[in-house]
Amino acid sequence: MKKIGEILSEEIRSIAIAGHINPDGDCIGSCTALYGYLKKACPAAREIDLYLETVPHELRFLKGVDEAKSSVPENKVYDLVIVCDVSSYERIAVAIPLFDLAKKTVSIDHHISNANFAEINHVEPDASSCAEVLTGLFDPDLIDEKIAESLYTGIINDSGVFQYQNTSPDTMRKAAFLMEKGIDFSRIIEDSFNKKTFAQNRVLGYVLMKAELAFGGQCIVSSLTTEEMDRCGVTRQDLDGIVSRMRFTEGVEVAVFAYETDENVFKLSLRSKERVNVSDVAAHFGGGGHVRAAGCTIAGSAGEVLDKMADVLKGYLSL
Ligand code: AMP
Ligand code: MN
Ligand code: MN
Repeated sequence: MKKIGEILSEEIRSIAIAGHINPDGDCIGSCTALYGYLKKACPAAREIDLYLETVPHELRFLKGVDEAKSSVPENKVYDLVIVCDVSSYERIAVAIPLFDLAKKTVSIDHHISNANFAEINHVEPDASSCAEVLTGLFDPDLIDEKIAESLYTGIINDSGVFQYQNTSPDTMRKAAFLMEKGIDFSRIIEDSFNKKTFAQNRVLGYVLMKAELAFGGQCIVSSLTTEEMDRCGVTRQDLDGIVSRMRFTEGVEVAVFAYETDENVFKLSLRSKERVNVSDVAAHFGGGGHVRAAGCTIAGSAGEVLDKMADVLKGYLSL
């Protein structure tokens, strides 16, 4: 696909847009951008709906978020369902019934582990973010300031404000183009990326205090149980960015952060600096993601899941 117009036609009267489970800045930025864009680019579509599971407080400023639905109607058949930033079928989560019944399905993504589960799969694994991919697929003239805000939010959230290795000259060119649409980029960075609540900063400190080094300092690991989250007054939505901070540790190649999502079930977030393909590591446990940022879910106590991860990781490190 060169432009999004290729998948649109006169026959498409109803469109649903959806993201992934526990949506992040890229997912929500991409979905709201596409929502705003299709309203302009596809006047034949009488019905355009946006589905997002939850929207964290810091992303509620994005245009379209207020209209997003968090549950799906039963037996609803859309002419077109587009999923953004979703690496696998299961991760469509709440919108799976819509995807199953849709007349046509499209996935727009940037995960190297993408399973090509839709009818049309547009995946650019070298792009920093799904929002970067969408910026290239949109007609530049139809991108207004609000759409640009959403796209920019997606790009900075997945690229760590242009600092992670997924940032390319193309990322910067697209961001520059979006800046020219008049967005208040420093406010977006401050509000959607830098700003943390007191509780979020405290839990970051707590996780860093608990962290340990492994494999001669090549790995940093830490964990958080539900009970500890309760004590810190946070939920899983407050934990974004912690694993990236762990990775800043000198000498570390891989950072692993496990947090409990159900009793004795942990979500593990993985980040690497230069050598280890963590998407590959996560795939050992049915997860995936990107070369430098990936995730998976493992059952067991905090100690057990970190041990299971260490068993796989040691094959990827120089010992
Ligand atoms: P996270 O650690 O949750 O910030 O995720 C890092 C990257 O890995 C994101 O791009 C996620 O979309 C992806 N990811 C996280 N968990 C999974 C999973 N269980 N399966 C596939 N991809 C995942
Ligand atoms: Mn995402
Ligand atoms: Mn993404």
